[in-house]
Amino acid sequence: MRIKKAEFIKSALKPEHYPQEVIPEVAFSGRSNVGKSSMFNQLVGQKSLARVSRQPGRTQTINFFLVNNSFHMVDLPGYGFAKVPLKVKAQWGKMMETYLGKRQQLRGVVLLLDIRHKPTGDDRQMLDWLIDNKLPVIVVATKSDKISKGRRQHHLAVIKKELALSPEQQIVQFSSQTGEGKELLLSGVEALINE
Ligand code: GDP
Repeated sequence: MRIKKAEFIKSALKPEHYPQEVIPEVAFSGRSNVGKSSMFNQLVGQKSLARVSRQPGRTQTINFFLVNNSFHMVDLPGYGFAKVPLKVKAQWGKMMETYLGKRQQLRGVVLLLDIRHKPTGDDRQMLDWLIDNKLPVIVVATKSDKISKGRRQHHLAVIKKELALSPEQQIVQFSSQTGEGKELLLSGVEALINE
């Protein structure tokens, strides 16, 4: 799949503010600073569609983008930012759970993990929640350019172990800097929306 057109539609906090149009959706989720905005911009080939935020944890809304006039890519708020007060964390959790649990046209979730780091409890919780709720998941290891090819398998094995994934589970290695993994990820997204 090629992304020919992508436009920001709206930000939402509550279901009544989600776009009304019933077209397939794929959501993107990960810890703050994992590289989600950079991934969006790389995928759609636009430099600043999703503003690359310098302050982790600032994107607190659910952001909807219309792609190729046919489906939505949905940018979920980054989780796990330590400095966020507990009350705000609870609100985010509720907002995410409402969206992920209730959005009828949601076809699956792209879960982003930094290839350099061991997944955290938040990552594990998110993945378990998605699996329990029977949402298809594409697991992506971001910032792949930061690890040499020779070390990658080790890092992927650590991620799989921490997340209790099977050794055969595919993880897309992705770099917003080099464009690595872009085609593979887009074909995964395409498969979800065509299901
Ligand atoms: P977000 O908080 O998940 O949206 O993360 P951002 O896209 O804002 O990225 C966080 C930081 O990681 C920024 O300094 C980016 O320049 C950097 N970054 C993101 N993706 C990559 C990547 O693929 N390779 C490298 N080397 N740096 C990246």
